[in-house]
Amino acid sequence: MKLLRERIGLKVFLSYLLIILIGGLVMILAAEIHAPVALGRHIARMQEIVGDDPALAADLLENFATALTEILLVAMGVSIAAAIAISIFTTRRITAPIESMKDASRSIASGEYQRRVEVRSEDELGSMARSFNRMAETLEQTEQRRLSLIGDLAHELRNPLASIKGTMEALVDGVMPIETDALIDVQREVNRLQRLVQDLEELSRAEAGQIQLEMKLVSPGELISEVVRRLQGQYDDKGVELKVDISATPAQISADPQRLTQVMLNLLGNALQYTPVGGEVYVDVEEKPGNLIVKVRDTGAGIPEHELDRIFERFYRVDKSRARPGGGTGVGLTIARHLVEAHSGRIVAESPGLGQGSTFTVFLPLSS
Ligand code: ADP
Repeated sequence: MKLLRERIGLKVFLSYLLIILIGGLVMILAAEIHAPVALGRHIARMQEIVGDDPALAADLLENFATALTEILLVAMGVSIAAAIAISIFTTRRITAPIESMKDASRSIASGEYQRRVEVRSEDELGSMARSFNRMAETLEQTEQRRLSLIGDLAHELRNPLASIKGTMEALVDGVMPIETDALIDVQREVNRLQRLVQDLEELSRAEAGQIQLEMKLVSPGELISEVVRRLQGQYDDKGVELKVDISATPAQISADPQRLTQVMLNLLGNALQYTPVGGEVYVDVEEKPGNLIVKVRDTGAGIPEHELDRIFERFYRVDKSRARPGGGTGVGLTIARHLVEAHSGRIVAESPGLGQGSTFTVFLPLSS
């Protein structure tokens, strides 16, 4: 019984055997019922021609029964042999891919994430192998993301920590006088670390797809005006002009106002950060069939063409030294892209090149 539970081949063979036995039984029953009647009719006709001979009739009946038994035995024997051969063949076809998936899953469990299985057919087993490979690929990507996140994080923490350590050592050794400037430097780096931690929390939620949108009917015009109002002071302080055109804005769209505000704060914050004194930033909104399009264009630092996609990757900065004074964490756009995609929208960056300004465009489906 244990063997039967453990061996798929035995199960397949027993199912064939059952079919053969049922087939044989039906044949025997059919022969028992129909053969004597048919033979009886035949013998009656023969007796009309050759005369009544009970011995001949009995002999005929006996020979017929023997022949029938022999035929049935040979047929059952050949069928059982065929059942054994077919069940071995079928079992191999079924178990080989299963065995290879079993091996591959063991390898993956021990950290060999690049293992895949061969897809040998188009049937259910083939589709199971394909699903298995997809799962392995996802696990491999997750592992790669985990490793690169650890690497990125170590890299991001190194600079502020080294700066804090250097200042603190100089203060403790008396090399540097304890003055407000030195303490402000330390405070700035600590603030930077704190912002990094907050951004990372947000990023990990976004990357895990755990952002819960609270969809409401929102007036995009009011939302943008509010973001502009919050940043206007900083624009004035730096001497960058902010021009807003929201005349073509639809009255209401369905969106999460808090998340959309976050995206706009990031885009307008970046535009301010990467636009020099005397520069300009334009915000305009238009409605195209099915989409609300928000454009944030600046006359600032610009982005080289080959880096336009990469700036949406976490911790990616076009010029590392450029981001330092402003203290950007390099994950703002990554989060913004996740937030826009959570609204079923998309965000793209365009720029004619370094020093020639950039345009960030957000497409939001109007039906969402
Ligand atoms: P950060 O905190 O560094 O600004 P982001 O994810 O918001 O991080 O942006 C990633 C990088 O994209 C920035 O470091 C910068 O190099 C580039 N970038 C973003 N916005 C602009 C812009 N308006 N003009 C030029 N470069 C930009």
